[in-house]
Amino acid sequence: MSNRPLLQSRAQCLRRCCPPAAPRSRLHTIAAAATVAGERRSKANIDWDTLGFGLKDVAGSMYVSEWTQDKGWDQGKLVPYGPITIMPSAQVLNYGQAIFEGMKAQESSKGRVVVFRPDQNAARFKAGAARMSMPSVPEEQFVEAVKATVAANLDYVPPIGKGSLYLRPLLLGTGPILGLGPAPSYTFTIFAAAVGAYFKGGQLTPIDLLVEERFHRAAPGGMGGTKAAGNYSPVLVTQLEAKKNGFADVVYLDAKTDTYLEEVSSCNIFVVKGRTIKTPPLQGTILPGVTRRSIVELARSRGYDVHEEPVTVHEAMEADEVFTTGTAVVVSSVGSMTYRGQRKQYTEPGQAGKVALEMYANLTDIQTERAEDKFGWVVPIN
Ligand SMILES: *Cc1c(COP(=O)(O)O)cnc(C)c1O
Repeated sequence: MSNRPLLQSRAQCLRRCCPPAAPRSRLHTIAAAATVAGERRSKANIDWDTLGFGLKDVAGSMYVSEWTQDKGWDQGKLVPYGPITIMPSAQVLNYGQAIFEGMKAQESSKGRVVVFRPDQNAARFKAGAARMSMPSVPEEQFVEAVKATVAANLDYVPPIGKGSLYLRPLLLGTGPILGLGPAPSYTFTIFAAAVGAYFKGGQLTPIDLLVEERFHRAAPGGMGGTKAAGNYSPVLVTQLEAKKNGFADVVYLDAKTDTYLEEVSSCNIFVVKGRTIKTPPLQGTILPGVTRRSIVELARSRGYDVHEEPVTVHEAMEADEVFTTGTAVVVSSVGSMTYRGQRKQYTEPGQAGKVALEMYANLTDIQTERAEDKFGWVVPIN
């Protein structure tokens, strides 16, 4: 399927709903302008059936806003996807003032495009900016920018079930500085790319995890709870080694006692025993995942006994089931976990855990509006 009459008509509708004479919010102005630009551009020529998780089908428009001491954040605008030019003296290149977010927009069963809990990403982005001494983006501007980016790139939203438009907001200290200090100016940008569904046909492939014994991801008082760029390259060394040995990823233990589970490189972790589900508490060292929080609320509403409390690695090795959560994977069943050379197998090979499957199905049903959105999590774009 390469042409998208449905989306095109929705794009036209979006423009009709915002006639130039009517009073418009900044978002509507941005979205309407972008729609016109989108119609001039040839339709996104994407093979929806072979989408992977990468930049092959990067969206045509990106959002950019600049902050200066005098003016604060500017209005923000949509520009063609392309390089941002910064000096070698940019703070971010020297001292690493950078945070990011990961979100996705999808086509829902109601035939519209929706995003999931953007207010939560806005709040986390704000908290992250504060931790990194950067000016925070007002939550309203963040959500508006996300909506405008999606509206400008509707052609890149895969048909339902084929994947999503992955959104990557960034906040960067782009202004120049020599001595250690915060940047004098900042860039807030959002780019996007069409990506495939992690589990085609709803089938979850269980992953094999290795408990990391040498390195820690974060320490008390550090920035583990922040989606700061600097948190991720240090874990590549462990992840790449684990992958060489056949594992999908590693699980980190707490830096103080090497006893408690923290999380996986870019996912939160849950352990299941009977009807009890536990996930490590948010104490500054693990990332407060939007998916994590949603699963906690969803599991409670489905009658599970859910605890946000420390989970020892031994408890995890005795669990009935383990799964991880994150925007990209939604829920990923853990097939096995290996700790000090001992391998605990949770599921039959190739078979996802029951609770992971239940949570995956329930959450994706809400995200794509197949199920009633009792929690008010879904935000329509058009
Ligand atoms: C982004 C991320 C998660 C998952 O957060 P979501 O909001 O659910 O996508 C978990 N752990 C780490 C380290 C992350 O970077």
